[in-house]
This record gives sequence, C-alpha cells and structure tokens, in this order.
Amino acid sequence: AKTEKQIEIDLERAIQNDELVLHFQPLLDTIDYSIVGAEALIRWQHPTKGMIPPYSFIPIAENSDLILTLGQWILEAACIQARKWQDINIPHFRTCVNISARQFQSKNFVDTVRNALKKSNLDPSRLELEITEGMVIGDTEAVAKKLEILAGLGISLAIDDFGTGYSSLAYLKRFPVHQLKIDRSFIRDITEDYDAAAITDAVIRLGHSLGLTVVAEGVETEEQVKILRQKGCDVLQGYYFSKPIPADELEQWVSSLGDRKFG
Ligand code: C2E
Ligand code: MG
Ligand code: MG
Repeated sequence: AKTEKQIEIDLERAIQNDELVLHFQPLLDTIDYSIVGAEALIRWQHPTKGMIPPYSFIPIAENSDLILTLGQWILEAACIQARKWQDINIPHFRTCVNISARQFQSKNFVDTVRNALKKSNLDPSRLELEITEGMVIGDTEAVAKKLEILAGLGISLAIDDFGTGYSSLAYLKRFPVHQLKIDRSFIRDITEDYDAAAITDAVIRLGHSLGLTVVAEGVETEEQVKILRQKGCDVLQGYYFSKPIPADELEQWVSSLGDRKFG
C-alpha cells in the first residue's frame, strides 16, 4: 500500500493534470419529482488505476492543507458548472457542494466562497454548501458569524448526514441553516427497522417545525419512496432516481424527466 505522503503527492499532481471530475446526483421534490438540486461528488480518474472513489482520498487530503487546495478546486468547478446550467434552458436547481471540516474552519473560507461566486458569476441562489453537525459545534459565536456571512451571500446551507453526529439541536435554531439531509443509514433500514423509521419521522417533524426542508439520502427502492412521501419528507436523493453522473448526462436526465415514472 502507498503511504499517505505518496497519495498526497499523487493527488497534487492529479489537480494539476485535470484528473479530477465532478459527478452530479439529482435531488427531487417529493410531490412532483421536479429537480431541486444536484449534489457535486468528486471522482479521481487515475491514468492507470481508473476511477478512484472519494473515500479513498478525501480523508487523506483532510489530514493536511491539501484539502484546502482540493476544496477550492471543487467549489470553483461546481460554480462554473452551475453557471453553465444557469445559462441554458433547464429548470432552476441548486448545485450542492460538500465542505470538509478543515476547509470550513480555515480563515479564508468565506473569501474562497465569495471568489468562486465572483469568478463564475453564479446566481448565489443556485449554490448550496453541505456541512456536517460536527463542524458547527464548538466555538459557536465564531461559527454563527461565519454561517451568517455565508447565508448573507444568498447561498443555502445544508446539514449533511444528519442524525449521525453530535445531537446538539440548539445550533439548528441559532444558525441560518436551510436544509437537513437525513443520513443514508436511516433510510436504508426504514422499511425493516422500527427505530430507523422512528428517527426519520422525528427528523422530518423537527426540521419542519424549525422551517427547514428535509432531504432523504440514499433512496434505493420504491417502498422507501412510498414511506418517505407518507412521512412528508420534502426532497429525495438516491440510486432509485439516479446515481451520480457526469454533468452532460445529468442534463439529458433532466430533459427526459417528464417521461419517467417514479414510486
Ligand atoms: P455524502 O456527501 O453523504 O454523499 C453521498 C454519498 O452517497 C455519495 O457517495 C453517493 O454516491 C452515495 N449515494 C447516493 N445515493 C445512494 C444510494 O441510493 N445508495 C447508496 N448505497 N449510496 C448512495 P460518494 O460519491 O462515494 O461520496 C462519499 C462521501 O465522500 C460523501 O458523502 C462526502 O462525504 C465525500 N465527498 C464526495 N465528494 C466530495 C467533495 O467534493 N468534497 C468533500 N469535502 N467531500 C466529498
Ligand atoms: Mg453530501
Ligand atoms: Mg450525506
């Protein structure tokens, strides 16, 4: 196995050599199945090893400042793509970008977001940042300020993998968060496991009483779709609808959306 250092060096080269690509997975409105978002998910097209999934290199990048370079590249690439979608005849949807803890905590983070918006000239209402519970706990004054500045730019904020982290719910009412994404592990078990179903139910109610939109991640079956619609979940994302796909494929997918039948 390669050392972390070697992977870091490879990854730096990958950024220079354009080996990184973003794929996009649609998020659909539960009522009418219109597209409301597309999550950008990074892939590494290695010249000899083929497609490398994010879990084999994101955690390594997160151990060093490399995640800052990588994170900036991801943010800019996502905004440039979203700007292309803004310019063509396609429904309005947000492009959702995953943010790492170290990236969020860096001093320059707000500037990085501002620059990505400026460089791409993207309408900020088309950008959403996904953060996790762990990132917003701690120095709450500083975090609140940062989130308020970000929300003030006109972008949206989502809590990713909700339900798996620290369950300090106080931050939800203090911070300008717009969306909760229920972790895939709950959705996976929703049909068999009473507890998973109860947690999903509680998160949907909690989100709604705080005025938030609730997203279910990892929706794979028609049965899950049915239950989530019954429970009043607002947005669905998962292989049942589409895997993460390249940007041009997503455009085709969206244009044929009217012909599809779900759930
Ligand atoms: P995440 O943000 O929670 O992303 C959702 C993951 O679930 C994606 O895996 C997606 O392909 C997968 N997924 C979606 N629908 C289904 C489904 O129906 N069934 C199953 N089994 N899986 C589904 P992926 O692309 O491998 O990404 C894994 C994680 O890597 C992401 O979790 C995120 O934490 C991280 N990641 C991916 N791209 C980026 C990025 O651009 N920046 C950062 N910081 N992290 C990223
Ligand atoms: Mg995510
Ligand atoms: Mg997630």
